[in-house]
Amino acid sequence: MGAESPKEECGLFGVWAPGDEVARLTYFGLFAQQHRGQESAGIAVSDGTNILVYKDLGLVSQVFNEATLTTLHGDLAVGHTRYSTTGSTTWDNAQPVFKTDGVHSIALGHNGNLVNTSELAERVRGAGLATTDSDIVTTMIADRTPEAGSIEAAAMDVLPELRGAFCFVFMDERSVFAARDSHGVRPLSIGRLPNGFVVASETCALDIVGATLVRDVEPGELVRIDDRGLHAQRFAESPKRSLCVFEVVYLARPDSRLRERSVHEARREMGRILAREHPADADLVIAVPTTGHSAAQGFSEVSGIPYGDGLYKNTYVGRTFIQPSQSLRDRGVKLKLNPLPDSIRGKRLVVVDDSIVRGTTTKQIVQALREAGAAEVHIRITCPPIQWPCFYGIDMPTRQELIAADLTVDQIRSYVSADSLGYLSLDGMVAAAGDGKETFCRACFDGEYPIEIPEGAGKYVLEDQLKLPTG
Ligand code: SF4
Repeated sequence: MGAESPKEECGLFGVWAPGDEVARLTYFGLFAQQHRGQESAGIAVSDGTNILVYKDLGLVSQVFNEATLTTLHGDLAVGHTRYSTTGSTTWDNAQPVFKTDGVHSIALGHNGNLVNTSELAERVRGAGLATTDSDIVTTMIADRTPEAGSIEAAAMDVLPELRGAFCFVFMDERSVFAARDSHGVRPLSIGRLPNGFVVASETCALDIVGATLVRDVEPGELVRIDDRGLHAQRFAESPKRSLCVFEVVYLARPDSRLRERSVHEARREMGRILAREHPADADLVIAVPTTGHSAAQGFSEVSGIPYGDGLYKNTYVGRTFIQPSQSLRDRGVKLKLNPLPDSIRGKRLVVVDDSIVRGTTTKQIVQALREAGAAEVHIRITCPPIQWPCFYGIDMPTRQELIAADLTVDQIRSYVSADSLGYLSLDGMVAAAGDGKETFCRACFDGEYPIEIPEGAGKYVLEDQLKLPTG
């Protein structure tokens, strides 16, 4: 994936398993989903009476250590890794969000982005300054719990009022809950442990804790897990399913399953179709690591061109590294991707990548490969041109910054200085993703937003209204 690829949103994990080390299971569940958010991490745990929350800015392995995990005892837990799709990166915005009135408590993690945040904020004004849609939802559920009688009844009241993309994993002192919007834009799966259940954004997190996949949380469904077992009810009908197709293209881990289809296999198929749609006369197929690997294998399989490594990625470059100065940059310091000259010198390359957003990273990659001796560089992208922004939880630049919003494919090819450029077609992408076109959100490619976007919906909408600093 290029350094400029759209940012992942958030990773969720919840576990109800009395007798297990639930905080430690949550830690590993979050660790497996670190790619979904690197700005903050948090775990809430309950022993049946009290909820304890520990959260901070940083990677999962930076926030938690043996000492903190040892203090988090309990029978159930929820956890969250965050990339800020709404609100800015501050400790207060780290999740799970926790609210209590001394009688009822709730700890909630959110993946996605609501589009009627301003409208909802009006309803909780006076209940404190909320800077994220997650904070607003937690406040709404907490406010209604005393009258509704339970957090579950309050959630059934609040969830139908929300518009946009959301998966929530939340808890009170005794139960874990999981909810998914009626379009099912973001993934959420249920797994079974020998003595309980887990829920997670991606199935790779079920694997890492030894859980077996039971099923997805259905769009429009609220699931409760506690000593009465697993109980599901609908808070909304699901007239149209719209899983984010970009989860399949780029966001999810290749060892996860989306709608029971292996992400690795889907990407491999994208590569196969890409090779048929945009063949190239070349000597070597390489991937832009790491998302491009599966598709590059598929491209090689169909084209008969050998597949090999041509770029090394430093996977330890997180969000908080020290930026090189301009003079270091001028000397060609490459933090994230470095070519392997001995593998590519004199060769005509097919370079498979997941997306082009602004075009700057692709341009740098082409330049670096040429400097390392590549004879030709043919760029192949495993999705169509991204022309529209995302309002459902993926951080993309504004439309003006998207290179494909204004330029033709040939103009983009010229800008990135590639010998040729080929994008996978929309039909090819959804065919490889495994279901019909109508069952996916693909708005960033074709502008057809499955959930209506009100005027003014955006990342800093609340801070703009409240005039809070966004830094
Ligand atoms: S607009 Fe694009 S990135 Fe956003 S949910 Fe839809 S397909 Fe996914």
